Amino acid sequence: MFVSSMAGDWLTMPAAAFRAFVSHELPDDSPYLADLQARHLAVVDVSKSSLAPLLSQYRSRKSYLMGGQALHIFVVSLRCHHTCSYCQVSRQGVNAQAFDLADSPAELAVERLFDWPSHELTIEFQGGEPMLNFEQVMRITRLIVARNQQEGRALRFVLASTLHDLTEEQLDFLAEHRFKLSTSLDGPEWLHNANRPRPGRDSYRRTIEGIERGRRRLGDDAVSALTTLTKLSLAVPEEIIDEYRKLGLHSISLRPLSPYGFATKTVSRTGYATSDYLTFYKRAFEHLVAVNQSGYAMDESYAALLLSQLFTSFGHGYVDLRSPSGAGLGAVIYDYDGRVYPSDEARMLAAMGDPTWCLGDVSQPVSAWLESPAMASVLFAGVAEALPTCSDCAYVPMCGADPVEHYARQRDTVGHRPTSDFCQRNMGLFDFLLERFEKGSAEDQRLMQRWAMRQDPVEEALHVAA
Ligand code: SF4
Repeated sequence: MFVSSMAGDWLTMPAAAFRAFVSHELPDDSPYLADLQARHLAVVDVSKSSLAPLLSQYRSRKSYLMGGQALHIFVVSLRCHHTCSYCQVSRQGVNAQAFDLADSPAELAVERLFDWPSHELTIEFQGGEPMLNFEQVMRITRLIVARNQQEGRALRFVLASTLHDLTEEQLDFLAEHRFKLSTSLDGPEWLHNANRPRPGRDSYRRTIEGIERGRRRLGDDAVSALTTLTKLSLAVPEEIIDEYRKLGLHSISLRPLSPYGFATKTVSRTGYATSDYLTFYKRAFEHLVAVNQSGYAMDESYAALLLSQLFTSFGHGYVDLRSPSGAGLGAVIYDYDGRVYPSDEARMLAAMGDPTWCLGDVSQPVSAWLESPAMASVLFAGVAEALPTCSDCAYVPMCGADPVEHYARQRDTVGHRPTSDFCQRNMGLFDFLLERFEKGSAEDQRLMQRWAMRQDPVEEALHVAA
């Protein structure tokens, strides 16, 4: 049995010992009782016990609440050169300039950015393809940097782009402001080009050139890549990982398709069940272990995040696995038309014609967004510890609530966990990682603990790329 405390400290114990524990029949000299006490799961002598250590652990794990809204995504254009069938943002053609963020809402969005109290601000530019409105990326960056002269916040800039056709002038600007680049690379050439068509069928070549140019100018660590997994990808986990290794990348993010944008229209061609994703993931994990054992260090970002939740007591910056939800409480999205959303998925739903999650627009004060019906819905269904099934789940201290995804998939913000893809995915991965750790060799266990402790921010590697 996996037994966890409210602060996420845990142990595993035989079912018989667990049953004896919950019926108050565990003998005083049981080694499990000592372990349960040390992990604040049992109090034997009330006069000698204190809740202080448990509360301190709880505060550390939820430390993201104190940080406030740290991730701010500026959608500078919905235009894109690609016609990906799994596109989640309902992109527009390259000449559709009506879908670019104009100067006036951009200026108001920068003002609103500084209305938030967070000391650390990550500003991520997204699209469509943000390079198609690079003038606005530069303008917003300069406005933010100028305003920050008085504000003194810690700024971090990220560009989520295909990185195609990067020019030296653009790289100079990105280097000056120490941008991190996040791109999409779906695997080997045949797979990437099949997933991401564009005229000339040269998306792979252009992406590789962009990654290399970006790394040469900004440094190896400044460029990360994400995969989007289609049905085609599920058959070739080894090929995808080997491609990342060939390019000298030390981290891969194996994320499933989300139910937004064009992905909803092509689900029969590109989509798959969560059980198929988990089968793929387990195969990919074994290959990653073999790659690491051969001497090449590479981790998987989502496994690193879940392992950090299991093996450390720290909070994290990843907004999609938090309770209370990271939507609106950890992230804010300023869309190309000046509307504001609590998560990237919320703006994707709006692009599909469903504005349920719109907080308001950049002409309004932040307080109006926080009082909006959309924010009330996030808060209503955004605390996992208070949701049906989650409230009884031993993984809840490490898991999160995602009302927007449950609304998108089940038309219900609370959602039904036994049929929830979000739950099946997270529970399946927690089960797998725990079992893999327990049955793994000492070398495998060391590897998983290293992933849990990795220094660079996991959330950055998990951001949505163009
Ligand atoms: S979503 Fe599933 S795995 Fe996560 S806490 Fe809820 S019931 Fe547990």
